Amino acid sequence: MLKVAKFGGSSVASAAQFRKVRDIILSDPSRRLVVVSAAGKRDSKDHKITDLLYLCHAHLTYGVSCDEIFDKISSRFIEIRDELGLSFRIEDELDALRARLNKDFSVDELVSRGEYLTSRLMAEYLDYSFLDASKCIFMDYDGRFLPEKISKAVNEVLNEEKGVVIPGFYGVLPSGKIKVMSRGGSDITGSLVAAACNADLYENWTDVSGILMADPRIVDNPSPISEITFAELRELAYMGASVLHEDSVAPVKEIGIPLNIRNTNDPSHPGTMIVDKAGGNEADQDRFITGISGKRNFIILTVSKRINGSNETLRDVLEILDRHKVHAEHISMGIDQFALVLSQTSIGDALYEIIGDIRAKCSPDDVSVQDNIALVAAVGRKMIFRPGISGKLFNALGKEGINIRTIAQGSDELAIIVGVDNSQFETTIRVLYHSFAG
Ligand code: ASP
Repeated sequence: MLKVAKFGGSSVASAAQFRKVRDIILSDPSRRLVVVSAAGKRDSKDHKITDLLYLCHAHLTYGVSCDEIFDKISSRFIEIRDELGLSFRIEDELDALRARLNKDFSVDELVSRGEYLTSRLMAEYLDYSFLDASKCIFMDYDGRFLPEKISKAVNEVLNEEKGVVIPGFYGVLPSGKIKVMSRGGSDITGSLVAAACNADLYENWTDVSGILMADPRIVDNPSPISEITFAELRELAYMGASVLHEDSVAPVKEIGIPLNIRNTNDPSHPGTMIVDKAGGNEADQDRFITGISGKRNFIILTVSKRINGSNETLRDVLEILDRHKVHAEHISMGIDQFALVLSQTSIGDALYEIIGDIRAKCSPDDVSVQDNIALVAAVGRKMIFRPGISGKLFNALGKEGINIRTIAQGSDELAIIVGVDNSQFETTIRVLYHSFAG
């Protein structure tokens, strides 16, 4: 059994958090590969090391001294080292870095030092060896990862050592230069490393006990999801849930490695297991909706014309949207009209031009727009097996006086999506949650 455990910024924010990480690692010898973020916030008023490093770079760019910020960064690391009684000479690393700081210093290299130094400390603390991401997370010049090279480098070290710590968030270009990923990129590193060594499990340790069924800012105390499929996760994320980014899921999803989201501050909680095919987790047996998410600010663009069984008008309208770089979220067809749900933000000011183009190209009988529409998705793999779910859903919304402006259900029956007025967005989520999950 081999597990890759990735720890996010809040899990390594202080010496106390490092201790929790060590307990977690020591409690399971199969956790042999550890990926860490840079030390994050200790409380809501604190700063992430990565943010401070970006701030240093901004100061350098404008020729303003970044000494004060750099001192703050240094003392955070020294404090962790001293509190844990480690011997790593971090002052040497920090002094060498400070000496190189000038306006031409690569921003990628500078901000990557947060993960680098946090990992050096963690490697000593766990008594694991350190494998720099610049020696194993290979990328081409377009920032695409090179899985075969990554796999070779990771496995070579893993075969020799009892355990390895790898910094997240950055990799190396063919030129040898460091390149950082998008923010939160350590999740991607963890996933790449898990895929590289064909791990049995990729654990992503954070500060919440898994993915919640609904946004806790809208629903009080939503239940955590114990098991979800990658496909459901994608639906939830697409519809606005802030869960793991697609790029960080792809490497493990492709080869079917399950991903477990766990809480460093509550390690006995099983968290959320993300799997290719759900095995019927006991805790979720009675729930046929896995999660609810949604987004505001869509429009419904309805084009009326005697279509007479031809696709021509729809094709022309889609071509016009393509030209304006707007994609249709949903399309519903009637006999003499069709309606497209479009994102208000992606249309921006182009709406009137689009309508003008449609009028000129398609000579429609009418084009109308309903704006301020919110889309809310009830996502659940088990809906496919239960007749009457949509009936129950519409009934619950009807009872609360929520007017449904549009409905869509994917052919895989993974989600039912309703469009409601923006002002009823939160009520819709609460009603669905309490009717199906609460
Ligand atoms: N430290 C980086 C960030 O704050 C990457 C990460 O935490 O995953 O975005």
